[in-house]
Amino acid sequence: MEVKEKAKIVITVASLVAVTVLFVTEYRRRRRHRRKQTSSLSSCYLHSEVRPQFGFKRVLADNSYSEFKHLKLDDASSSTEKASNCHHPYESEITVLLENTKIEFGFLRGECSLKMSDSYVWVEMESQLKKLAEVLAKEKVFAVDTEQHSLRSFLGFTALVQISTHEEDFLVDTIALHDAMSILRPVFSDPNICKVFHGADNDVLWLQRDFHIYVVNMFDTAKACEVLSKPQRSLAYLLEAVCGVATNKLLQREDWRQRPLSKEMVQYARTDAHYLLYIADALTAELKQLATDSSSPDDTFHFLLEASRRSNMTCLQLYTKEIEDFPGSAAASSIIYRHLNGHGDTSTIALNAEELVRKICAWRDLMARIHDESMRYVLPDQAVVALACKQPTTTEEIYGTIAHTDLATESSPSLSSSVQSPYPVICSHLDDIYHMILNKLAKLDDILPVVLKKCLGTNGTCPISVFNYSLLLNFKTKLSSHSAPKQNGHKNFKQFTRKASRELFVKKFSCKAPVYHNCRIYANDGRLLCYCDKRKLEWYLNRGLAKLVEEDPPAIMLLFEPKGRPEDEGNDFYIQTKRNICVGCGEGKHYLRYRIIPSCYRVHFPEHLKSHRSHDIVLLCVDCHEVAHAAAERYKKQIATEFGIPLFVRRVIDSKEAQGTSSLTEDESMVNSEDAGVSPLHLRSAAMALLRHGNRMPSSRREELLQIVKMYYGGRDISEDDLERALLIGLSPHERRRRERKQGVSLKHSAEVARLDKQENGKKDENNDGEGPADSEKIMNVERSTVADDSGDGGTSEGDGAAELNDAQCNGNTLHQQNSKLSLLGHGPHGKQIVEYLLREYGEDGVRDFCQRWRKVFVDAVHPRHLPGGWNVSHSGRRDFGEFSVYNPTKRLSTE
Ligand code: AMP
Ligand code: MN
Ligand code: ZN
Repeated sequence: MEVKEKAKIVITVASLVAVTVLFVTEYRRRRRHRRKQTSSLSSCYLHSEVRPQFGFKRVLADNSYSEFKHLKLDDASSSTEKASNCHHPYESEITVLLENTKIEFGFLRGECSLKMSDSYVWVEMESQLKKLAEVLAKEKVFAVDTEQHSLRSFLGFTALVQISTHEEDFLVDTIALHDAMSILRPVFSDPNICKVFHGADNDVLWLQRDFHIYVVNMFDTAKACEVLSKPQRSLAYLLEAVCGVATNKLLQREDWRQRPLSKEMVQYARTDAHYLLYIADALTAELKQLATDSSSPDDTFHFLLEASRRSNMTCLQLYTKEIEDFPGSAAASSIIYRHLNGHGDTSTIALNAEELVRKICAWRDLMARIHDESMRYVLPDQAVVALACKQPTTTEEIYGTIAHTDLATESSPSLSSSVQSPYPVICSHLDDIYHMILNKLAKLDDILPVVLKKCLGTNGTCPISVFNYSLLLNFKTKLSSHSAPKQNGHKNFKQFTRKASRELFVKKFSCKAPVYHNCRIYANDGRLLCYCDKRKLEWYLNRGLAKLVEEDPPAIMLLFEPKGRPEDEGNDFYIQTKRNICVGCGEGKHYLRYRIIPSCYRVHFPEHLKSHRSHDIVLLCVDCHEVAHAAAERYKKQIATEFGIPLFVRRVIDSKEAQGTSSLTEDESMVNSEDAGVSPLHLRSAAMALLRHGNRMPSSRREELLQIVKMYYGGRDISEDDLERALLIGLSPHERRRRERKQGVSLKHSAEVARLDKQENGKKDENNDGEGPADSEKIMNVERSTVADDSGDGGTSEGDGAAELNDAQCNGNTLHQQNSKLSLLGHGPHGKQIVEYLLREYGEDGVRDFCQRWRKVFVDAVHPRHLPGGWNVSHSGRRDFGEFSVYNPTKRLSTE
C-alpha cells in the first residue's frame, strides 16, 4: 500500500473516531445535564440558542401543514374571492403588461455607468427603509437580487435584498427589517417601475413568501439571454462577457444571516445587483438590433417584447407550500427508491427497513417544523438510510451510525458548521430515534401526535415560536384526514394547545423592554422630586427647563422652582423607584400593564381626572392579570346592578323602523326600550342561522327566527341585506372590523358601520394596525395593541412600547374563551352613562370615589405584595407633571 493511501485511511479512521467521540461526549453531557434537572424543559438545544428568525413578529409562511395565504387586496373585486390561496393579487396588472405592446423600457438611459463605487447604503432601520421606498418611487427602473438562508430554517427565509439604482447600491437587511418590508410593496407592484432581475424565479417566490411582495413589471436578464439564444445564461457569464467583471459564485452558499457581512460577501451581494441595469441596457440594445436586422418591419420590438413577456410570466407564479399526503412521505419514497432498491424486494428485512424509513422521515419532517430547521440539518438522507438499514439499538451505536454517514457525505452540515454539537436535534431528541428503532412507537400514525405532544405539549421539551405554534392548531385536521384519531387524544390536545396559548400570549403581550426607566428629577436645591421615564426627562431638557446631572441612569435638575414638593402632602409615591416586576406576585420575567380603572369608564373621565396614570396602571404577570381582570368583570356587573345601568345592550331596535312608533333617539333605542326590540346576541345568531341554513331548515324554525329579526326591524319583511346588516348589531367597532375581515363583507355596509361607529360614543379606536393580524393571532383572538393613551405633553405615560391589553382583548377572557358569548356583546354605552351619572350627582368627587372603589377591588382580588411604597387606595388622583399638574411650569407661569 502506498504511503499516501495509508495516510488517507489513518486520517479517515481518526476523524471517524473524533466525530464519534464528539457525539458521545455531547450526548453524555446532555444526559448529565438533564438528570440534574427535574423537568426536561431545557433538554432541547433551542433553549440555549439564539436564532435570528425567532425575532420575527409576523411570519406569513409558518411551519404548519396549512396552506400559504396570499395577499388579499382590499378592492371590491377581490373581496368576493373566497380563498386567496390560488389567486395572484396583481394578476390583472400583470396581464395588462403581457398584452400591452407599447411597454416603455425605462432603463434605456443611453449611458449607464459600469463603475461600482466604494460606498453603498446598508438599510437596517425602518426609517431608512421608508427613505429607500421614496427614492425608488421616483425611479423608472431599479435592479433587484435576493439572498436567502435555508440550512437553519424549515422553509428558508430571505436574509438580504440588494437593490441598485443608477446612482446607488442598497443592501436591505431583511432580517432586521423582516416585519417592516411591506414598506417596499408599492414600488414592487407599481407597473410603471421596471424591476430588473437575473433568473427571478426563486426571488419572486421568496418575496411573496416572506413579505407578500409581488413583482409587477419585470425585466429578467436571463430571459433576455434565452430570447437572444446566448450560449450561457448565468449571471457570472453575463458579468464576464458584458461587463468584464469576475464574481465568485461560491459565495452564494455563504451563511447570509451573519452580521456584519464580510467584505467579500458585501462585494458579492452588490455585484449581483449593481451591474444588472447595465446588462439590461446592453441586452435590450441587442434585442432591438435583432429586430431591425430581421426582414419584416412589423417585427420591430418583437424580440424585446418577447423577453419582457417571458419575464412578466415569471411574476405570475405563486408561492405554495408543498403539501404531502402524509408528513415526510415524499422524502421517504424517494429515499426508498434511491437507496433501498425499493422495487420488488419483499423480504422481511427490506420491508422492515422501508417501514423505518417512513417513520424516521415523518419524525424528521415534524422535528424540522418544530425547530424551524431544514430536513438536512435535522438528519440528512444518508443518515436516514443508515439508521434504517443498521437499526442500531444502543444510543452509542445510533450516534456512531450517524457519525459514519456524516463522514461519507461532504456537504453535511455538521462538518461545515459544527462548532458546538453535530446534529443538535438528534442529540436533544435521541429517545425518539431509539424508540422508533426498537419499534416502541409502533404505528406510523402514532408517531406524530406523540412527538408533537412531547415537544410542544404541557411541559413540552421545545420552545414555542411563531413558526411552530400553528402546528398545534392545524395538526388535528391534518391527521384526521388520514386516520381516525383516538378520542382521549383530543382532550389532551385541548389541554396542551391551551398551555401553548398561554406561552405565546405571554410572549406576545408582555412588555418587551423595562417599563420603568427610573430616571430621576431633582429640584434645584438637590431634593429628589420623582422617578419617571426618559420621555419626561427629554421634555424638560428640550425646553431648556432642566439640565442633565447624571448619565446612567439619567437624572435632571429643574432650573425653576416647582410649586410645592410631593412630600409636602405626605405623598411619597412619586419618589419611589418602580420595579419592573408584577406588583401581584413579584414575577420578573414577564409582565404587562394593567389598568386598575377599566378603560370603559376612564375614557369618559374629564381630561384632568384621567391623569393619574402612573398610579393606576401597574405591571402584572399574565396569571395575576387574569385574576384582576376577572374580579373587575365581576365588579362591573355589580356596578351595573347598583346604578341600574346595564352592562350590555339588552334589546335593540332599528332606529329607522322605530321612528314611526316612538320618538326615541338612537342611543335611547339601544337601551331603554325594554319591551320593544330584541337582544343583540339573539338577533345576530338568528340572522346568522338564516343566512347559513335558511333554505334548509324546517319552515317552522325559519319562521321563529324570522320573527326575532323582524322584532329588530319593527315587524316589516326581511331581505337578505337586512340579515347581513343584523350581523353587525351590538358589536364594538373592533369586533365589527374583525367580523368584516373574516367575512369579506365590507363596502356593502360601510354606511351602516359608520353609523354604528358613531353610536359608540367616542370609544377609542384601539386596534388599527393597518393589516389583518397573522393567522395565529386571529385564532387566539388577540391582536397587538398600541397604547392608545393621550400622552402628548411631557406626560406621564411610562415607557414606550410596553404592552397592555385593551378592553376588546379582555372581554370574555381572551386567553381561553375564544368567541365566548360575552366577548360578542361589547359594553355599549354603559361606561359613559355611569361616568355621566357620577358627575351629575356627585361631581368630580364622585369620580374620585369611584376610582378608589376600583383600587380596592384590585387589592382585594390580587393581594398585591409588591406595590410601590406610597401607592394607596385613597390616592388623591392629582397628576404629578404635565398639562394639568400643579407642578406644570407653564401652568405655574400662567397662573402667577
Ligand atoms: P444568487 O442570487 O445567485 O446569489 O442566489 C441567491 C440565493 O440562492 C443564495 O443566497 C442561496 O441561498 C441560493 N442558492 C443559489 N444557488 C445555490 C447553490 N448552488 N447552493 C446553495 N444555495 C444556492
Ligand atoms: Mn445573489
Ligand atoms: Zn426540541
